[in-house]
Amino acid sequence: MSADVELPEASINPAQLGPLLVAWQRRSGRQDLPWQRDRSAYRVWVSEIMLQQTQVSTVIGYFERFMARFPTVSTLAEAPIDEVLHLWTGLGYYARARNLHRAAQQICERFGGEFPRHFADVAALPGIGRSTAGAILALAYDERQPILDGNVKRVLGRLFAIEGNAAQRAVEQRLWALAEACTPAQDVAIYTQAIMDLGATVCSRRNPACVVCPVTTQCLARAAARQHEIPSPKSRGSRKARPARACWWLLPIDTAGRVLLERRPERGIWGGLWCPLQFDTRTAAASYARQRFAVEVESLESLGTIDHAFTHFDLAITPLLLRDVAADERVMEPSGVLWYNPRDGAMRVGLPAPAKQLLDDLLG
Ligand code: SF4
Repeated sequence: MSADVELPEASINPAQLGPLLVAWQRRSGRQDLPWQRDRSAYRVWVSEIMLQQTQVSTVIGYFERFMARFPTVSTLAEAPIDEVLHLWTGLGYYARARNLHRAAQQICERFGGEFPRHFADVAALPGIGRSTAGAILALAYDERQPILDGNVKRVLGRLFAIEGNAAQRAVEQRLWALAEACTPAQDVAIYTQAIMDLGATVCSRRNPACVVCPVTTQCLARAAARQHEIPSPKSRGSRKARPARACWWLLPIDTAGRVLLERRPERGIWGGLWCPLQFDTRTAAASYARQRFAVEVESLESLGTIDHAFTHFDLAITPLLLRDVAADERVMEPSGVLWYNPRDGAMRVGLPAPAKQLLDDLLG
């Protein structure tokens, strides 16, 4: 353990945590997840990225389809980004997929397609922060690296009764020092899986199952009956009311059953995905329809509003359907516009989840 970690009185000795959690993981932890089989740094990396902000049960199917199509770093690096985003459709936070793709290309260019072994090289890859780099090296190579994802912050914060919230720099630094001190020298992969699983399945945010927790007798938050106060909520400034926004999607469908989509800019919501033409007002959508397809406003069929929640705001989408526009021979236009046929299995592009659902309902 590092010598300069100050611990509250009566707290568990960090050196004891490893053996307790390793024993619990062997007894009760998850052992059969797809990324735990044929374990490699590549598979661990992809799973760790998919698991950010996303539950295990959701990730399993996405992971297996992704691995079937991209079994190696080089197959991922060589794939078109559209195909990567296609396999990410519905998983959300699409910057993760773009970063995976970019990082795979860098691994091929700089490391000959072999996932790097050194922490600094791993942490320098797009989309990989300090905790994810540590998790990959710990899980894939049993290398002693601490991790501090959201679940681990909660477990350590409660176990050692750390006041405040990890959004505060001083609190985060203290948690990193504890993470470092608690990471054992042996069985690092098992310990790392254990502390992640403990946070995800036992020490949950709202209803920690302290009675079945392997460190229940050592936990300072439990001893003080303060599990629900730690971690403390973020400051009021970060809990502002969620803004509501609205947009209109224009859906021109040609006589061949294809719908016109445009690629979203790399930055911003749904970056790089293919999306119906999006407008800030109904008037703007109608004006575009009139100019491009020579139709009048009355031809637009308004469908019900789709509500979609993003992390920081809610979006109300009103699709406007324009049926039977003249078939257009151009399939892919240079301007990033695509006549998309959902029934054509060869058109593998990434779509935002609400667009995929809508097109499946309309045309699938
Ligand atoms: S005893 Fe309860 S609060 Fe403490 S680490 Fe275990 S589940 Fe979390």
